[in-house]
Amino acid sequence: HVCASCMGFLQVLPPTVQKHKRWRRPGVCGLENSGNSCYLNVVLQCLCATVPLVEQLLHWDTLSEVFVHLLEIMWLGGGSSCSPLEVRSALCSVLPQFNNDSQQDAQELLLLLLNTLHDDFNKVLLHMFELSAVRGCSFNSNIVTRLFEGQLSYMCICMHCHHQAHNTQTFTVLSLPVPKDSIKCSIQDCLSLFFKQTVLTGGEQAMCSVCGLKRETAVITCVDRAPEVLVLHLKRFGSKGKNQVKLRTNVLFFTELDLSQFLSGLVPNESSYHLYAVVNHSGHLTMGHYTAVCYNSPAQTWHYFDDAAVSEVQEDRLQSPNAYLLFYSHNRSIQRH
Ligand SMILES: [Zn+2]
Repeated sequence: HVCASCMGFLQVLPPTVQKHKRWRRPGVCGLENSGNSCYLNVVLQCLCATVPLVEQLLHWDTLSEVFVHLLEIMWLGGGSSCSPLEVRSALCSVLPQFNNDSQQDAQELLLLLLNTLHDDFNKVLLHMFELSAVRGCSFNSNIVTRLFEGQLSYMCICMHCHHQAHNTQTFTVLSLPVPKDSIKCSIQDCLSLFFKQTVLTGGEQAMCSVCGLKRETAVITCVDRAPEVLVLHLKRFGSKGKNQVKLRTNVLFFTELDLSQFLSGLVPNESSYHLYAVVNHSGHLTMGHYTAVCYNSPAQTWHYFDDAAVSEVQEDRLQSPNAYLLFYSHNRSIQRH
């Protein structure tokens, strides 16, 4: 198995050594398409670029073994591409809805994959807890929770008696609305739309505990706890009347993202995020193709992944009207130095 110091190569190899080596960068590994599986490949690429997750998993030898095995090949193997078939068949056995050759939604897969990993980790943590209770040692909390989970806070104000009620909800992906009628907008516009104050009226009215009745309610949303890895999902797939449509709005995003205006309290250094992976969806609603662009932290370069094909890209080529999922982090191990 991987030795305990294996991840040392992240720090040990200076960027110059990495650059002079011929093609084969740890963590830069295309994934072969196993029949309409680009939605799976792009999500695997983005998780492979989530360095804290990789560091934790490469040192773990009992759980989610096929995913760990794939990460070992992608980070430590010698090929320029490999097959994720093992992950796919493991995935199909846990989540049978993916056991076919039809195109699926990458965001749904990401959520289900993270949930599955999360449940796997909890089983192991329970086991470790039993051991640590005996040995009196400490252990890390669930890596998926620690990296991806944030918390939203909702302030609900009764428009009749002004009573305020406070609710919270955890999230792993923020699904942002995309303005329907514009050709171009910015990611800040999508965030502002998501966090815009809304008033629940008509059938959506909420129960007020003071009035004892359903009342018009103002809802103010903000981020209570910012996750270490922030995944933004652009809701491009929607319906217009009876028809399913794909919104092609060019959403401008940047490598830096400041979330401070949407945070409930000011937590220093936790509002500034750095982009490290993007999933693109091109084509139509049902006939489309997914590709990914991920930052490789040891080589400090960006790579474009189209299934098994890999090419290096410059940072100024990241912007695309096809952007669908954006992965941001405020962890220093993913950021450039
Ligand atoms: Zn009230």
